[in-house]
Amino acid sequence: MINVEGLRKSFGKNEVLKGISTKINKGEVIAVIGPSGSGKSTFLRCMNLLETRDGGSITIEGTDIQQMEAHLRKKIGMVFQHFHLFPHLTVLENITFAPLQVLKKTKKEAEHAGLDLLNKVGLAEKAHAYPSSLSGGQKQRVAIARALAMNPEIMLFDEPTSALDPEMVKEVLQVMNDLAKTGMTMVIVTHEMGFAKEVADRVLFMDDGKLVEDSSPQVFFENPNTDRAKAFLEKVL
Ligand code: ADP
Ligand code: MG
Repeated sequence: MINVEGLRKSFGKNEVLKGISTKINKGEVIAVIGPSGSGKSTFLRCMNLLETRDGGSITIEGTDIQQMEAHLRKKIGMVFQHFHLFPHLTVLENITFAPLQVLKKTKKEAEHAGLDLLNKVGLAEKAHAYPSSLSGGQKQRVAIARALAMNPEIMLFDEPTSALDPEMVKEVLQVMNDLAKTGMTMVIVTHEMGFAKEVADRVLFMDDGKLVEDSSPQVFFENPNTDRAKAFLEKVL
């Protein structure tokens, strides 16, 4: 579904992605793991055109993403570490905003779909609350529902639980786990090793702008191929 070939990106003289190549199949759940500064966010942001690449290609179903700019926004949903909800809109308004503006849905349709999504993330009773009244875990679940409201085919998550208090991590991972079971294609940058091990179909391990390992969770966690992955796992596990 997604084909990444020789992806390169620099910020000034700092080469952050040094030729990343991988293929992601429809319905796959990919965990992207690696030390801070290794280029994980930049990799994700290039996939969503939040950064423009300097070299290589990214195609989705055969079409280069640069050729599908506006359409790409609908195809790919993204969830960030810091939620990025609109503070002046209610939870339901946050969710219906893009479907109304971009998909030109009617208010009735958008609200119906929005409430359905809120139900799925366990927050139906918060539809008319403002983000400031929610916990971090609730905000992140709203952010996931908001991304899903655009009916994306691919969901990107950049450390969705890193800003949360420990007791709220589980509820967000549960929502992501449910989503994975629906067959959604997901690319998730995460430090939650247990989640990666249980939910991911594949682990991409990045270090210093390179894709150092591309393996099954079993291989990656039990018997990694590289010393760099071994050293990383020794630190985090
Ligand atoms: P990770 O998500 O793995 O922590 P990032 O992709 O955020 O890594 O960053 C990789 C490198 O790129 C870091 O050295 C970071 O400082 C640099 N970087 C990221 N974004 C920018 C930017 N917008 N401008 C300049 N440097 C950046
Ligand atoms: Mg990052």
